[in-house]
Amino acid sequence: MTTSDTHDWQAFYRASGLTPVINVSGTMTGLGASSAGQPVVDDCAAILPHFVKMHELQALASETIARLTGAEAGFVTASASAGITLSIAGCMTGLDPAAAERLPDTAGLRNEVVIQAGHLCHYGAPVDQSIRLAGASVVPVGQSTQVLDHQLTGAINERTAAALYVVSHHVVDYGQIPFDAFVALCHKADVPVIVDAASEYDLTGFIEAGADLAIYSAHKFLGGPTAGLVAGGAGRVPAAYLQNIGIGRGMKVGKESIYGAIAALKAWEVRDHAAIRKAERHTLDTWLAALVDRPGIHARIVPDPTNNPLDRLRIDVDQVAAGASARAIAAALAASDPAVIVRDHEVEQGWIQLDPCNLLDGQAVTVAEELAAICEAASEGRLAEPDVTVWRNQSVDGYLTWGR
Ligand SMILES: *Cc1c(COP(=O)(O)O)cnc(C)c1O
Repeated sequence: MTTSDTHDWQAFYRASGLTPVINVSGTMTGLGASSAGQPVVDDCAAILPHFVKMHELQALASETIARLTGAEAGFVTASASAGITLSIAGCMTGLDPAAAERLPDTAGLRNEVVIQAGHLCHYGAPVDQSIRLAGASVVPVGQSTQVLDHQLTGAINERTAAALYVVSHHVVDYGQIPFDAFVALCHKADVPVIVDAASEYDLTGFIEAGADLAIYSAHKFLGGPTAGLVAGGAGRVPAAYLQNIGIGRGMKVGKESIYGAIAALKAWEVRDHAAIRKAERHTLDTWLAALVDRPGIHARIVPDPTNNPLDRLRIDVDQVAAGASARAIAAALAASDPAVIVRDHEVEQGWIQLDPCNLLDGQAVTVAEELAAICEAASEGRLAEPDVTVWRNQSVDGYLTWGR
Protein backbone atom coordinates (compact mmCIF):
# COMPACT_ATOMS: atom_id res chain seq x y z
CA MET A 1 0.00 0.00 0.00
CA THR A 2 1.31 3.43 -0.89
CA THR A 3 1.45 5.96 1.90
CA SER A 4 2.37 9.59 1.50
CA ASP A 5 4.65 9.80 4.54
CA THR A 6 7.09 7.22 3.28
CA HIS A 7 8.83 9.29 0.60
CA ASP A 8 12.19 8.53 2.11
CA TRP A 9 11.46 4.87 2.67
CA GLN A 10 15.17 4.07 3.04
CA ALA A 11 15.38 6.18 6.22
CA PHE A 12 14.02 3.30 8.29
CA TYR A 13 16.75 0.98 7.02
CA ARG A 14 19.50 3.50 7.73
CA ALA A 15 18.21 3.88 11.28
CA SER A 16 17.73 0.16 11.98
CA GLY A 17 20.68 -1.24 10.07
CA LEU A 18 18.38 -3.79 8.41
CA THR A 19 18.67 -4.69 4.71
CA PRO A 20 16.48 -2.49 2.50
CA VAL A 21 13.76 -4.65 0.93
CA ILE A 22 11.33 -3.90 -1.88
CA ASN A 23 8.57 -6.47 -1.81
CA VAL A 24 7.06 -7.41 -5.18
CA SER A 25 6.20 -10.94 -4.08
CA GLY A 26 2.87 -10.35 -2.30
CA THR A 27 2.14 -10.27 1.41
CA MET A 28 4.76 -12.67 2.73
CA THR A 29 5.29 -13.62 6.37
CA GLY A 30 9.03 -13.91 5.70
CA LEU A 31 9.13 -10.24 4.71
CA GLY A 32 6.98 -8.87 7.53
CA ALA A 33 3.58 -9.49 5.88
CA SER A 34 1.99 -6.09 5.17
CA SER A 35 2.89 -2.48 4.67
CA ALA A 36 0.42 -0.75 7.01
CA GLY A 37 -1.10 2.58 6.00
CA GLN A 38 -1.03 5.65 8.22
CA PRO A 39 -4.48 5.19 9.87
CA VAL A 40 -3.40 1.71 10.99
CA VAL A 41 -0.02 2.96 12.22
CA ASP A 42 -1.73 5.78 14.15
CA ASP A 43 -4.28 3.54 15.85
CA CYS A 44 -1.72 0.87 16.81
CA ALA A 45 0.35 3.63 18.44
CA ALA A 46 -2.69 5.31 20.05
CA ILE A 47 -3.77 2.29 22.08
CA LEU A 48 -0.35 1.08 23.24
CA PRO A 49 -0.01 3.29 26.34
CA HIS A 50 -3.53 2.52 27.59
CA PHE A 51 -5.32 -0.21 29.51
CA VAL A 52 -8.57 -1.42 28.03
CA LYS A 53 -11.18 -4.06 28.79
CA MET A 54 -10.16 -6.64 26.20
CA HIS A 55 -13.67 -8.11 25.85
CA GLU A 56 -14.93 -4.62 25.10
CA LEU A 57 -12.18 -4.10 22.49
CA GLN A 58 -13.00 -7.47 20.90
CA ALA A 59 -16.69 -6.49 20.89
CA LEU A 60 -15.72 -3.38 18.93
CA ALA A 61 -13.81 -5.64 16.55
CA SER A 62 -16.86 -7.94 16.33
CA GLU A 63 -19.08 -5.03 15.29
CA THR A 64 -16.61 -3.93 12.63
CA ILE A 65 -15.99 -7.44 11.30
CA ALA A 66 -19.76 -8.05 11.20
CA ARG A 67 -20.33 -4.83 9.26
CA LEU A 68 -17.71 -5.64 6.63
CA THR A 69 -18.33 -9.37 6.24
CA GLY A 70 -22.08 -9.59 6.69
CA ALA A 71 -21.49 -12.18 9.44
CA GLU A 72 -23.21 -11.94 12.81
CA ALA A 73 -20.00 -11.66 14.82
CA GLY A 74 -16.23 -11.90 14.78
CA PHE A 75 -13.02 -11.50 16.73
CA VAL A 76 -9.34 -10.86 16.16
CA THR A 77 -6.63 -13.42 16.84
CA ALA A 78 -2.88 -13.68 16.22
CA SER A 79 -3.06 -14.85 12.60
CA ALA A 80 -5.30 -16.62 10.12
CA SER A 81 -3.46 -19.81 11.03
CA ALA A 82 -4.46 -19.29 14.68
CA GLY A 83 -7.99 -18.53 13.47
CA ILE A 84 -8.21 -21.96 11.85
CA THR A 85 -7.02 -23.74 15.01
CA LEU A 86 -9.38 -21.79 17.29
CA SER A 87 -12.33 -22.28 14.93
CA ILE A 88 -11.75 -26.04 14.78
CA ALA A 89 -11.40 -26.11 18.58
CA GLY A 90 -14.63 -24.14 18.99
CA CYS A 91 -16.48 -26.59 16.75
CA MET A 92 -15.28 -29.41 19.04
CA THR A 93 -15.90 -27.86 22.47
CA GLY A 94 -18.80 -25.49 21.91
CA LEU A 95 -19.14 -23.24 24.97
CA ASP A 96 -17.80 -25.85 27.43
CA PRO A 97 -14.84 -24.21 29.23
CA ALA A 98 -13.69 -27.48 30.79
CA ALA A 99 -13.46 -29.07 27.36
CA ALA A 100 -11.58 -26.00 26.07
CA GLU A 101 -9.06 -26.38 28.92
CA ARG A 102 -8.62 -30.10 28.22
CA LEU A 103 -7.58 -29.58 24.59
CA PRO A 104 -5.65 -30.93 22.77
CA ASP A 105 -7.15 -33.92 24.60
CA THR A 106 -10.43 -34.46 22.75
CA ALA A 107 -11.79 -37.45 24.68
CA GLY A 108 -15.58 -37.44 24.48
CA LEU A 109 -15.71 -34.77 21.76
CA ARG A 110 -16.36 -34.94 18.04
CA ASN A 111 -12.80 -34.60 16.81
CA GLU A 112 -12.54 -35.29 13.08
CA VAL A 113 -12.13 -32.61 10.44
CA VAL A 114 -12.76 -33.35 6.78
CA ILE A 115 -10.74 -31.54 4.13
CA GLN A 116 -10.36 -32.14 0.38
CA ALA A 117 -7.02 -33.73 -0.49
CA GLY A 118 -6.21 -30.96 -2.98
CA HIS A 119 -6.60 -28.40 -0.19
CA LEU A 120 -3.85 -29.90 1.99
CA CYS A 121 -1.40 -27.14 1.11
CA HIS A 122 1.50 -25.38 2.79
CA TYR A 123 1.08 -21.63 3.31
CA GLY A 124 4.32 -21.30 5.28
CA ALA A 125 3.21 -24.17 7.53
CA PRO A 126 1.10 -27.24 6.70
CA VAL A 127 -2.63 -26.42 6.80
CA ASP A 128 -3.32 -29.84 8.34
CA GLN A 129 -1.13 -28.89 11.30
CA SER A 130 -3.44 -25.98 12.11
CA ILE A 131 -6.16 -28.65 12.49
CA ARG A 132 -4.04 -31.13 14.46
CA LEU A 133 -2.86 -28.39 16.81
CA ALA A 134 -6.36 -28.25 18.28
CA GLY A 135 -6.23 -32.01 18.96
CA ALA A 136 -8.44 -32.88 16.01
CA SER A 137 -7.58 -35.50 13.45
CA VAL A 138 -7.47 -34.76 9.76
CA VAL A 139 -9.64 -36.78 7.41
CA PRO A 140 -8.48 -36.16 3.83
CA VAL A 141 -11.24 -36.55 1.25
CA GLY A 142 -10.57 -37.96 -2.21
CA GLN A 143 -7.23 -37.62 -3.99
CA SER A 144 -5.21 -34.49 -4.70
CA THR A 145 -6.57 -34.13 -8.23
CA GLN A 146 -10.11 -35.50 -7.86
CA VAL A 147 -12.66 -35.22 -5.10
CA LEU A 148 -16.23 -36.40 -5.66
CA ASP A 149 -19.40 -35.79 -3.66
CA HIS A 150 -19.75 -39.38 -2.41
CA GLN A 151 -16.22 -39.21 -1.00
CA LEU A 152 -17.10 -36.18 1.11
CA THR A 153 -20.41 -37.65 2.25
CA GLY A 154 -18.70 -40.98 2.98
CA ALA A 155 -15.97 -39.29 5.06
CA ILE A 156 -18.51 -37.63 7.37
CA ASN A 157 -19.67 -39.59 10.42
CA GLU A 158 -20.81 -39.06 14.02
CA ARG A 159 -17.28 -37.98 15.03
CA THR A 160 -17.03 -35.21 12.42
CA ALA A 161 -16.61 -31.83 14.11
CA ALA A 162 -16.13 -29.58 11.09
CA ALA A 163 -15.16 -29.31 7.45
CA LEU A 164 -12.35 -27.02 6.32
CA TYR A 165 -12.34 -25.40 2.88
CA VAL A 166 -9.18 -23.61 1.72
CA VAL A 167 -9.24 -20.82 -0.87
CA SER A 168 -5.76 -20.12 -2.18
CA HIS A 169 -3.39 -20.13 -5.15
CA HIS A 170 -1.60 -22.83 -3.13
CA VAL A 171 -4.40 -25.42 -3.53
CA VAL A 172 -5.08 -27.69 -6.50
CA ASP A 173 -7.28 -25.53 -8.71
CA TYR A 174 -9.24 -28.26 -10.49
CA GLY A 175 -11.07 -31.45 -9.58
CA GLN A 176 -12.17 -30.18 -6.15
CA ILE A 177 -15.77 -29.78 -4.97
CA PRO A 178 -16.87 -26.16 -5.55
CA PHE A 179 -17.65 -24.12 -2.45
CA ASP A 180 -21.45 -24.02 -2.87
CA ALA A 181 -21.70 -27.78 -3.33
CA PHE A 182 -19.26 -28.37 -0.44
CA VAL A 183 -21.44 -26.28 1.88
CA ALA A 184 -24.63 -28.00 0.74
CA LEU A 185 -23.20 -31.50 1.34
CA CYS A 186 -21.76 -30.57 4.77
CA HIS A 187 -24.88 -28.79 5.95
CA LYS A 188 -27.06 -31.70 4.88
CA ALA A 189 -24.98 -33.77 7.34
CA ASP A 190 -25.11 -31.00 10.00
CA VAL A 191 -21.37 -30.34 9.74
CA PRO A 192 -20.20 -26.71 10.07
CA VAL A 193 -18.01 -25.32 7.28
CA ILE A 194 -14.92 -23.29 8.12
CA VAL A 195 -13.35 -21.44 5.20
CA ASP A 196 -9.73 -20.37 5.16
CA ALA A 197 -9.95 -17.22 3.05
CA ALA A 198 -6.76 -15.73 4.53
CA SER A 199 -5.65 -14.10 1.32
CA GLU A 200 -9.00 -13.27 -0.31
CA TYR A 201 -10.31 -9.76 -1.02
CA ASP A 202 -13.92 -10.96 -0.93
CA LEU A 203 -15.02 -10.36 2.67
CA THR A 204 -18.71 -11.15 2.15
CA GLY A 205 -19.04 -13.93 -0.44
CA PHE A 206 -18.18 -16.98 1.67
CA ILE A 207 -20.43 -15.97 4.56
CA GLU A 208 -23.19 -15.20 2.08
CA ALA A 209 -22.69 -18.63 0.48
CA GLY A 210 -23.17 -20.34 3.85
CA ALA A 211 -19.76 -20.54 5.57
CA ASP A 212 -20.25 -20.98 9.32
CA LEU A 213 -16.87 -19.40 10.00
CA ALA A 214 -14.66 -17.46 7.57
CA ILE A 215 -11.06 -16.63 8.37
CA TYR A 216 -8.97 -13.79 6.98
CA SER A 217 -5.50 -12.37 7.57
CA ALA A 218 -5.47 -8.76 8.73
CA HIS A 219 -1.93 -8.42 7.39
CA LYS A 220 -2.52 -9.34 3.77
CA PHE A 221 -4.58 -7.24 1.36
CA LEU A 222 -6.18 -5.38 4.29
CA GLY A 223 -2.83 -3.76 5.12
CA GLY A 224 -3.31 -4.25 8.84
CA PRO A 225 -0.97 -5.27 11.65
CA THR A 226 -0.14 -8.98 12.00
CA ALA A 227 -3.45 -10.56 13.06
CA GLY A 228 -6.20 -12.93 11.96
CA LEU A 229 -9.93 -12.30 11.69
CA VAL A 230 -12.59 -14.88 12.49
CA ALA A 231 -16.09 -14.05 11.21
CA GLY A 232 -19.21 -16.12 11.51
CA GLY A 233 -22.46 -16.98 13.21
CA ALA A 234 -23.34 -15.76 16.71
CA GLY A 235 -23.31 -19.39 17.89
CA ARG A 236 -19.93 -20.38 16.43
CA VAL A 237 -17.79 -17.28 17.02
CA PRO A 238 -18.05 -17.23 20.85
CA ALA A 239 -17.01 -20.92 20.99
CA ALA A 240 -13.89 -20.11 18.97
CA TYR A 241 -13.23 -17.01 21.11
CA LEU A 242 -13.54 -19.12 24.29
CA GLN A 243 -10.35 -20.96 23.28
CA ASN A 244 -8.36 -17.97 24.55
CA ILE A 245 -8.63 -19.59 28.00
CA GLY A 246 -6.87 -22.65 26.58
CA ILE A 247 -4.87 -23.38 23.46
CA GLY A 248 -5.49 -19.83 22.23
CA ARG A 249 -3.25 -18.43 24.95
CA GLY A 250 -0.15 -19.21 22.95
CA MET A 251 -1.75 -17.37 20.03
CA LYS A 252 -2.50 -14.24 22.05
CA VAL A 253 -3.13 -11.10 20.06
CA GLY A 254 -2.13 -7.70 21.43
CA LYS A 255 -4.48 -4.76 21.91
CA GLU A 256 -2.49 -2.85 19.26
CA SER A 257 -3.16 -5.57 16.68
CA ILE A 258 -6.87 -5.66 17.50
CA TYR A 259 -7.26 -1.90 17.33
CA GLY A 260 -5.02 -1.76 14.25
CA ALA A 261 -7.07 -4.48 12.54
CA ILE A 262 -10.22 -2.46 13.20
CA ALA A 263 -8.49 0.58 11.62
CA ALA A 264 -7.50 -1.54 8.62
CA LEU A 265 -11.10 -2.71 8.15
CA LYS A 266 -12.40 0.85 8.36
CA ALA A 267 -9.78 2.00 5.84
CA TRP A 268 -10.83 -0.88 3.57
CA GLU A 269 -14.43 0.33 3.75
CA VAL A 270 -13.52 3.70 2.26
CA ARG A 271 -10.60 2.60 0.09
CA ASP A 272 -10.66 3.92 -3.47
CA HIS A 273 -10.16 0.55 -5.13
CA ALA A 274 -10.40 1.96 -8.65
CA ALA A 275 -7.65 4.50 -7.98
CA ILE A 276 -5.41 1.82 -6.45
CA ARG A 277 -5.90 -0.47 -9.44
CA LYS A 278 -5.07 2.42 -11.75
CA ALA A 279 -1.83 3.09 -9.84
CA GLU A 280 -0.99 -0.64 -9.92
CA ARG A 281 -1.62 -0.70 -13.67
CA HIS A 282 0.76 2.24 -14.08
CA THR A 283 3.41 0.29 -12.14
CA LEU A 284 2.90 -2.79 -14.33
CA ASP A 285 3.26 -0.64 -17.46
CA THR A 286 6.50 0.86 -16.09
CA TRP A 287 7.94 -2.62 -15.59
CA LEU A 288 6.71 -3.79 -19.02
CA ALA A 289 8.46 -0.84 -20.62
CA ALA A 290 11.73 -1.78 -18.90
CA LEU A 291 11.54 -5.27 -20.44
CA VAL A 292 10.54 -4.65 -24.07
CA ASP A 293 12.85 -6.00 -26.75
CA ARG A 294 15.01 -8.01 -24.41
CA PRO A 295 15.98 -11.36 -25.93
CA GLY A 296 14.45 -14.34 -24.14
CA ILE A 297 12.33 -12.18 -21.82
CA HIS A 298 8.57 -12.25 -22.37
CA ALA A 299 6.53 -10.15 -19.94
CA ARG A 300 2.76 -9.88 -19.77
CA ILE A 301 0.08 -8.85 -17.32
CA VAL A 302 -1.85 -11.74 -15.74
CA PRO A 303 -4.90 -11.83 -13.42
CA ASP A 304 -4.84 -13.26 -9.89
CA PRO A 305 -5.59 -17.01 -9.94
CA THR A 306 -8.28 -16.87 -7.22
CA ASN A 307 -10.07 -13.90 -8.80
CA ASN A 308 -8.82 -11.26 -6.40
CA PRO A 309 -9.06 -7.91 -8.20
CA LEU A 310 -5.31 -7.75 -8.72
CA ASP A 311 -3.03 -8.15 -11.73
CA ARG A 312 0.64 -9.11 -11.71
CA LEU A 313 3.47 -9.04 -14.22
CA ARG A 314 4.48 -12.51 -15.33
CA ILE A 315 7.98 -12.69 -16.79
CA ASP A 316 8.76 -15.81 -18.80
CA VAL A 317 12.46 -16.40 -19.26
CA ASP A 318 13.96 -18.45 -22.08
CA GLN A 319 17.25 -19.36 -20.41
CA VAL A 320 19.25 -19.82 -23.62
CA ALA A 321 18.08 -16.62 -25.32
CA ALA A 322 18.13 -14.50 -22.14
CA GLY A 323 21.53 -15.74 -20.93
CA ALA A 324 20.17 -16.78 -17.52
CA SER A 325 17.24 -18.67 -16.01
CA ALA A 326 14.22 -17.15 -14.26
CA ARG A 327 15.74 -18.51 -11.05
CA ALA A 328 19.04 -16.69 -11.66
CA ILE A 329 17.19 -13.45 -12.33
CA ALA A 330 15.14 -13.85 -9.13
CA ALA A 331 18.32 -14.57 -7.16
CA ALA A 332 20.13 -11.56 -8.62
CA LEU A 333 17.20 -9.26 -7.81
CA ALA A 334 17.12 -10.60 -4.24
CA ALA A 335 20.87 -9.98 -3.90
CA SER A 336 20.61 -6.39 -5.18
CA ASP A 337 20.67 -3.28 -3.03
CA PRO A 338 17.87 -2.62 -2.26
CA ALA A 339 16.84 -6.30 -2.33
CA VAL A 340 13.93 -6.87 -4.72
CA ILE A 341 11.99 -9.98 -3.70
CA VAL A 342 9.84 -11.41 -6.49
CA ARG A 343 7.10 -14.04 -6.55
CA ASP A 344 9.04 -17.17 -7.46
CA HIS A 345 7.00 -20.22 -6.40
CA GLU A 346 6.67 -21.29 -10.05
CA VAL A 347 10.28 -20.53 -11.00
CA GLU A 348 11.02 -24.13 -11.99
CA GLN A 349 8.51 -23.67 -14.82
CA GLY A 350 10.55 -20.77 -16.15
CA TRP A 351 8.73 -17.70 -14.89
CA ILE A 352 8.57 -15.24 -12.05
CA GLN A 353 5.87 -12.74 -11.17
CA LEU A 354 5.97 -9.20 -9.86
CA ASP A 355 3.18 -8.07 -7.56
CA PRO A 356 2.52 -4.31 -7.58
CA CYS A 357 0.36 -4.14 -4.45
CA ASN A 358 2.88 -3.50 -1.66
CA LEU A 359 4.99 -0.65 -3.00
CA LEU A 360 5.94 2.61 -1.35
CA ASP A 361 6.55 5.81 -3.31
CA GLY A 362 9.50 5.56 -5.66
CA GLN A 363 9.95 1.81 -5.36
CA ALA A 364 8.28 0.90 -8.69
CA VAL A 365 10.92 2.85 -10.60
CA THR A 366 13.76 1.32 -8.59
CA VAL A 367 12.40 -2.14 -9.46
CA ALA A 368 12.26 -1.22 -13.16
CA GLU A 369 15.88 -0.03 -13.05
CA GLU A 370 17.10 -3.17 -11.28
CA LEU A 371 15.14 -5.38 -13.69
CA ALA A 372 16.73 -3.67 -16.68
CA ALA A 373 20.23 -3.87 -15.20
CA ILE A 374 19.89 -7.55 -14.34
CA CYS A 375 18.48 -8.53 -17.74
CA GLU A 376 21.41 -6.65 -19.26
CA ALA A 377 23.85 -8.59 -17.07
CA ALA A 378 22.11 -11.85 -18.06
CA SER A 379 22.42 -11.10 -21.77
CA GLU A 380 26.14 -10.46 -21.26
CA GLY A 381 26.53 -13.79 -19.50
CA ARG A 382 27.34 -12.18 -16.15
CA LEU A 383 24.65 -13.89 -14.00
CA ALA A 384 25.53 -17.01 -12.02
CA GLU A 385 23.00 -19.86 -11.91
CA PRO A 386 22.00 -20.64 -8.32
CA ASP A 387 22.33 -24.21 -7.06
CA VAL A 388 18.87 -25.68 -7.63
CA THR A 389 18.89 -27.83 -4.48
CA VAL A 390 20.00 -24.95 -2.28
CA TRP A 391 17.39 -22.71 -3.89
CA ARG A 392 14.57 -25.24 -3.41
CA ASN A 393 15.31 -25.67 0.27
CA GLN A 394 16.06 -22.07 1.16
CA SER A 395 12.83 -21.46 3.07
CA VAL A 396 13.74 -24.06 5.67
CA ASP A 397 17.49 -23.47 5.50
CA GLY A 398 16.86 -19.90 6.62
CA TYR A 399 15.62 -21.40 9.90
CA LEU A 400 18.30 -24.07 10.20
CA THR A 401 21.17 -21.61 9.76
CA TRP A 402 19.65 -18.77 11.77
CA GLY A 403 21.46 -17.94 15.00
CA ARG A 404 24.62 -19.76 13.99
C1 LIG B 1 -1.42 -16.65 4.40
C2 LIG B 1 -2.33 -17.78 4.50
C3 LIG B 1 -2.55 -18.40 5.72
C4 LIG B 1 -1.82 -18.00 6.95
O1 LIG B 1 -2.21 -16.70 7.32
P1 LIG B 1 -1.50 -16.05 8.59
O2 LIG B 1 -2.42 -14.92 8.93
O3 LIG B 1 -0.18 -15.55 8.11
O4 LIG B 1 -1.41 -17.07 9.63
C5 LIG B 1 -3.46 -19.43 5.78
N1 LIG B 1 -4.12 -19.85 4.69
C6 LIG B 1 -3.92 -19.28 3.49
C7 LIG B 1 -4.71 -19.78 2.32
C8 LIG B 1 -3.03 -18.22 3.34
O5 LIG B 1 -2.85 -17.65 2.16
